[in-house]
Amino acid sequence: MTSYRPTRITISRSAIVHNIRSIKQYYENQKRPIRYFFAVVKANGYGHGMEQVAQAAEKEVNYFAVATIDEALKLRKCTDLPILVLGPSPVRSIPDAVTHQITLTVPSVDWLSEATREYPKHSLTLHIKLNTGMNRIGLRTASEIEQVFRLLQHTSYDVEGVFTHFARADEEDRTWTDEQVDRFEQLLCQFPERPRIVHVSNSAATLRFPEYVYDGVRYGISLYGLAPSPFVETMLPVSLKKAMTLTTEVALVKTLPPQTQISYGGRYETKHLERIATLPIGYADGLRRQLTGQYVLIKGEKFPLIGTICMDQCMILVNENISVGEIVTLIGIDKGEEISVNDWSNSLNTINYEVCTSFSARISRELSQ
Ligand SMILES: *Cc1c(COP(=O)(O)O)cnc(C)c1O
Repeated sequence: MTSYRPTRITISRSAIVHNIRSIKQYYENQKRPIRYFFAVVKANGYGHGMEQVAQAAEKEVNYFAVATIDEALKLRKCTDLPILVLGPSPVRSIPDAVTHQITLTVPSVDWLSEATREYPKHSLTLHIKLNTGMNRIGLRTASEIEQVFRLLQHTSYDVEGVFTHFARADEEDRTWTDEQVDRFEQLLCQFPERPRIVHVSNSAATLRFPEYVYDGVRYGISLYGLAPSPFVETMLPVSLKKAMTLTTEVALVKTLPPQTQISYGGRYETKHLERIATLPIGYADGLRRQLTGQYVLIKGEKFPLIGTICMDQCMILVNENISVGEIVTLIGIDKGEEISVNDWSNSLNTINYEVCTSFSARISRELSQ
């Protein structure tokens, strides 16, 4: 969908392809090929645009993963690859999951008990989630696993996979992650047979622990060229290319006399004759109000956001060289200068995941080469 508003996120197809191929090659070089590559495109492809990311990744991977059944149904309209829903899905969504060939996660014994009671005849494909330390969802004990396999008898459900999720794979100390794998192995021993797709690794574990590949990896943040944590960034085994560029255009420029207050609350006041540009992006797009003071790029030069950021617009302090219609880069590279998602997450005191997933649906997404 094209949009009249010039504020857009552009996704680099070649960056996504590079990020997938480089990690796959790294594993092949170690003679541990990644058999199932799950491209994690939940939360609108980490804010990049789920459809655009799926289109870029489609030929490079063999599975998609999302967080919810609604995301899966939306994604199904643009791909024939298998789709795994990582989170719990309402039992009443099972008929839709079967119709659209969406793989669901077993989050608990109770969930499966209700599912087999309500829809015993549906040929549902499942991955069993094991809770090995994250304590969010999943089976935690041998007895729960036994109950699950008892419920599965006399159904046409196919347990295609089993997985767990790491809570601390991005931290320097690997003890916790190794312990989670130990618990995973112990629980796996309780299975009457080993499912075809065993997977544990998120991006951090994929980048750090090739020994934990099993049958596949769930690659999220690093698919988009971002490191899972500052620590992992210091030890990347492959190069990552950032896929997102956020740009807009100068909507208006004016020169204001000294002592003129700008925007809500008058928090910024001009000191001299100042040239102020207005941009069509605000906090409702994901440009958080706390980002006042952060820079944007125009023609390779940095200009600061000044005054209170509004819902739909904001102001920057520019110079005589800047006029209406000029391209403004809020995230990305312009003439060798770069502003990254990490610059924003550092100044907001949060993680890059939260910044990129906060870009709202109002910003149009485009896939470029
Ligand atoms: C989001 C998610 C991932 C991907 O994590 P990254 O750190 O972005 O690679 C993998 N597995 C599960 C269960 C998730 O929820």
